Amino acid sequence: MLGAMGITLWEPDTPDGAAEGTRSPPTQPVRQTSPSPGASTSNMPPAHAVAAATADATVATVGDVAMLGWDALRERVASCRACRLCESRTQTVFGVGNPRAHCMIVGEAPGENEDLQGEPFVGAAGQLLDRMLPAIGLTRGDDEPARQVYIANTLKCRPPRNRNPEPDELARCSAYLQRQIELVQPRVLLAMGRFAVQTLLDSHEPIGRLRGRVHRWRGLPVVVTYHPAYLLRNPADKARAWADLCLTATQLSA
Ligand code: URA
Repeated sequence: MLGAMGITLWEPDTPDGAAEGTRSPPTQPVRQTSPSPGASTSNMPPAHAVAAATADATVATVGDVAMLGWDALRERVASCRACRLCESRTQTVFGVGNPRAHCMIVGEAPGENEDLQGEPFVGAAGQLLDRMLPAIGLTRGDDEPARQVYIANTLKCRPPRNRNPEPDELARCSAYLQRQIELVQPRVLLAMGRFAVQTLLDSHEPIGRLRGRVHRWRGLPVVVTYHPAYLLRNPADKARAWADLCLTATQLSA
């Protein structure tokens, strides 16, 4: 299929409304990359989740990251022991891309490949993401802020065996994502998958009910779409994801 930019796309199919689970993607070849430097009114984290998280006295809290710059934030994440995921991770996965990107992509959590390489979206889902971005003139390769995205996950550590993130893990880790968004100051946030949506919009609505319109996080436009891992299993929904990319492009040019 040819996209709006006149380039070959990632072949979206006809929508058929399949289910939306995203975790436990199959093990796939790993994309080789070099490391990169680096209010709806919604609002993370939900107070009840933070309260539950902090009630567990066996782990440390994230602490105040609101004033940290990139280097200090990266170091804080790398040494984080705020939840049980620190026990099983190989390394933290901070984020990658242009620190002034106009478009910031928020994924869910590192998988096996990301845990090994320390970079988000390097497995099969990442390869699909890499093919999707050029459809709206974006890239994860080095480029100017208008073209190169910044990519971060809601969780910085891999859940064991790619299980779903627990609410307290999402709540604790959300401070890091929040600070990353504050530092990047993107023009639009593209939330991929249900855990990104839960964290940014504090909503448990299915993606299919939330996509297709612009939400807000502290005044910033948020476009909701399917996770690439889901699209790999449900290619019929690529047409809907294509429409979500177009909505993202609209926000970028607004
Ligand atoms: N899925 C995500 O949401 N993030 C990654 O980094 C990898 C897979």
